[in-house]
Amino acid sequence: MLKKIRVAANPGVSGWQAILPTRKPQSALNGSVCADYLVVGAGFAGLAAARRLSQIEPDAKIIILEACEVGEGPAGRNSGFMIDLPHDLSSQDYAGSAEIDKQQTLINRSAIAFAKSAFDEYSMPPEAMQCVGKTNAAATAKGLACNTQYAQHLERIGEDYHLLDAQQMQSMTGVDYYLGGLWTPGTAILQPANYISSLADGLTKNKNIHLFENSAVTNLDKQNASAADTLWRAKTKQGVVQAAKVILAVNGMIERFGYFQQRLMHVFTYASMTRVLTTSEVKQLGGEPTWAFTSADPMGSSIRRISGTGGDRIMVRNRFTYDPNMEVSEKRVASVAKDHRKAFDARFSMLRSVETEYSWGGRLCLSRNNVFATGEVEEGVFSACCQNGLGTAKGTAIGIIAAEQASAAQASLVPDYKKEELPKKLLPKPLMYLGANGYMHWKEMCAGKDK
Ligand SMILES: Cc1cc2nc3c(=O)[nH]c(=O)nc-3n(C[C@H](O)[C@H](O)[C@H](O)COP(=O)(O)OP(=O)(O)OC[C@H]3O[C@@H](n4cnc5c(N)ncnc54)[C@H](O)[C@@H]3O)c2cc1C
Repeated sequence: MLKKIRVAANPGVSGWQAILPTRKPQSALNGSVCADYLVVGAGFAGLAAARRLSQIEPDAKIIILEACEVGEGPAGRNSGFMIDLPHDLSSQDYAGSAEIDKQQTLINRSAIAFAKSAFDEYSMPPEAMQCVGKTNAAATAKGLACNTQYAQHLERIGEDYHLLDAQQMQSMTGVDYYLGGLWTPGTAILQPANYISSLADGLTKNKNIHLFENSAVTNLDKQNASAADTLWRAKTKQGVVQAAKVILAVNGMIERFGYFQQRLMHVFTYASMTRVLTTSEVKQLGGEPTWAFTSADPMGSSIRRISGTGGDRIMVRNRFTYDPNMEVSEKRVASVAKDHRKAFDARFSMLRSVETEYSWGGRLCLSRNNVFATGEVEEGVFSACCQNGLGTAKGTAIGIIAAEQASAAQASLVPDYKKEELPKKLLPKPLMYLGANGYMHWKEMCAGKDK
């Protein structure tokens, strides 16, 4: 590969990472090293892949290269909903076809079980992962209708749920904004930066796993192409890794390695977090100290009330933008933060004096046909990418799957996964850009008070 791979920046400061105690990152790669496996990317997919590889081949030497500090990328800047159930963002109510949704739920649950076993093994802090379920909150008649349709779908696929009325929503949140909710038990709620850095720190206690942070891969090429023992060589600014097998766990950035080009949709979503609420503000608000809402309308706002190490705060996530070059400016983040503010003020009128402390954006990678970008893309190079907006669970699952493919494992921890078709080709660039942005903007407008 001749062209230098450039890693896109992460815009804005993620509140999740900023409120954690300072963590000492692993040093950057310096010099030349050899390994059995190289994993590129230390998000959900990369760390799951490394952990699974170490379970299958305990003696294998595994190197992980991460472009930033762990937690700085999308894995540490999401809203932390590790969702078991169907969650198709492009649908009206998250539901897809019953058969695919049943299979996807089993896959997501394998991933959540894997994450929970890591949580236990590495004695992560309790707030890193809480298996408490989540609520789809409805603030409009349309939102209530989405919940009703979703409830019917859950019945069809044999899943549990519990409907909440306006009074129950108010008791939970302290505000009278919501008309109803639909609670499901299987979602794990993460403090994403806490979970992902605890996972990385836990993994590196294994003497055969070596993580290098601030070590972006700038070139990946094949050595000894004609020999039987082909090696891949990954270059970073100050070092080189040679490995027989490579797992690319870089989500949409895989396009810059030359794979799945014109097949991946690069979308940003954004979040803001308040400063710490004072004791009197917490009292004024009332309700429970922690809760986690996705919106009943897929284009609405996710809201979390958090307490614990980083203090009592509220997080708002909304807006999607289609940005095929995988970059957005700080100015864009500041502009979207105004939408977060509107959503916050509308819900929490008693907290209007509470300032926003952090606003940030992050990359998602989707495919038109809602499939992973996976498989052996070249001899010895495996992809664990394209999480379709649900990377906490799906990223974990595809990381496990890629590790099992690369190592030819005998048994799978994700037995329900079936080989999928390729991500569908995109439409011509201008059409995609205008179409995707126009469509998402219109859907966001239609979400009304759910946004
Ligand atoms: C605001 C926001 C809210 C979200 N909310 C949720 C949610 O509630 N639930 C959910 O499931 N998902 C959510 N997501 C999506 C989720 O964060 C992603 O789907 C998930 O992080 C994807 O995991 P991953 O491991 O595949 O990729 P990433 O987390 O993107 O990790 C890939 C890593 O690869 C590294 N990398 C890239 N190129 C290179 C290179 N050349 N060399 C070395 N390293 C490289 C990157 O720095 C990055 O750390 C949200 C995203 C955002 C931005």
